[in-house]
Amino acid sequence: MTKQTFAIIGLGRFGSSVCKTLVDGGAEVLVIDRSETKINNYKKIATQAIIADAQDENALKSIGIRNFDHVVVAIGEDIQASILVSMMVKEMGVKHVTAKAQNKYHARVLEKLGVDKVVRPEREMGKRIGKSLLSKNMLDY
Ligand code: ATP
Repeated sequence: MTKQTFAIIGLGRFGSSVCKTLVDGGAEVLVIDRSETKINNYKKIATQAIIADAQDENALKSIGIRNFDHVVVAIGEDIQASILVSMMVKEMGVKHVTAKAQNKYHARVLEKLGVDKVVRPEREMGKRIGKSLLSKNMLDY
């Protein structure tokens, strides 16, 4: 079985945590961020670390983003960049795209663009914690 390849765009708290988990699991991971400092910090962690503005279509093409099995768009605050980059990677033919959404409207747009998995980490983690508190409460009772 050939190894799956992953590219992560954006090394905020979410992207960097996904990156470390994948690397710890033995995966090959390319990271892209426009911040030189962030990329320098990940040179020894990721398989490959590239400084680029992911909104630059030519940069994505020259990196060969379409050859990756999974791309994670982990740009958060800049919703416009997140939408544009997600759209471009889907157009380039990436099979599995996961993108982080800031709010329900952002999530709807990403789904409409064909993003395969839209995640809202704070909301999902909040739900998980709530459920775990409820089950702990039941056990204590
Ligand atoms: P988190 O909650 O995961 O910490 P966030 O929602 O605050 O992240 P940002 O800090 O806006 O999201 O972005 C995450 C990362 O994405 C940053 O390291 C930023 O440099 C990078 N980034 C943002 N826009 C681009 C872009 N157009 N190209 C490449 N990297 C980008």
